[in-house]
Amino acid sequence: MTPPLWERYSRQILFAGIGEAGQQRLLDARVAVLGCGALGSFQAGALARTGIGYLRIIDRDYVELSNLQRQWLFDQCDVEQGLPKSIAAARKIAAINSGIQVDPVVADVTASNVDELLADVELILDGTDNFETRYLINDYAVDRVRPWIYGAAVASYGITMSIVPGQTACLRCIYPDPPSGAQPTCETAGVLGPVTALIASLQVSEAIKMLCGGEPSRKITTADVWSGEIRQVGQPGPSEDCPACGRREFPYLSGKQRAPVSLCGRNAVQIHERARPLDLQDLAARLMPLGAVRANEFALRFEIPPYLLTVFPDGRAIIKGTTDVGVARSLYARYIGG
Ligand SMILES: [Zn+2]
Repeated sequence: MTPPLWERYSRQILFAGIGEAGQQRLLDARVAVLGCGALGSFQAGALARTGIGYLRIIDRDYVELSNLQRQWLFDQCDVEQGLPKSIAAARKIAAINSGIQVDPVVADVTASNVDELLADVELILDGTDNFETRYLINDYAVDRVRPWIYGAAVASYGITMSIVPGQTACLRCIYPDPPSGAQPTCETAGVLGPVTALIASLQVSEAIKMLCGGEPSRKITTADVWSGEIRQVGQPGPSEDCPACGRREFPYLSGKQRAPVSLCGRNAVQIHERARPLDLQDLAARLMPLGAVRANEFALRFEIPPYLLTVFPDGRAIIKGTTDVGVARSLYARYIGG
């Protein structure tokens, strides 16, 4: 290790659990942060500072004003530019640590692209905000034997646990199916910044330890930063009855459980059934006479009140201003093409 590298990481090299050998493992590590909201932006920033050699940051959304209260890497300029979160995160990280490689990906993780996005990383950090994607990660992780670190936060409450397929319980050992009915989300119940930092911090600590060869904690940790209550229960071992690691059924990975259009949990609908590349400059020229258009190389935003369409180069779109899938599909067909 060169003297500047040693200097940069000296305070964690001095820590007995890491040492110079551990630091070298971190520098050689390949990690994916899946979802770059409050949890993911904290994870990405912290992992970059730690010196994770290769960081893939995957997110489907763009930075909005309501994100800034808790999404640690973003600022007002990102909102003004309408930057996708993964791109904005990669730019911030380049200024924090230019010695590591960051691969920002603007995409919705689905059964059809999950292998392409996660096959070449050794650890996955959960920064998602929905059960659909978490169950897909779990299917993938169990099938391909990849460790992942589950984390979630809403209101003042959060939960995390490390999952190492073959060693610990998986998500479906503990929760065989996603919760039914409406669940509180950050859009309906709000979320406090500190609980996201707490949960993400525990996830990153587990990541560093596991990458340095340490054992996962084998605990389920829950915390409520408003009541000040923090609880841990021992994580059970893998269950023989588990549909994923016991019976090896992977419905999320085979794409059977996926609706073609998903709600983003706010007043918006995502259209992702059209996988076809779009020329955003060409689309901008076509839409210009019809409403306000702003485009950069990463996304195009088209305002046609009361709707705001954000279109990505892969053909995916987020349509804000409605929760009606039919309305969203019709706007997509009318303005982007059916
Ligand atoms: Zn399981």
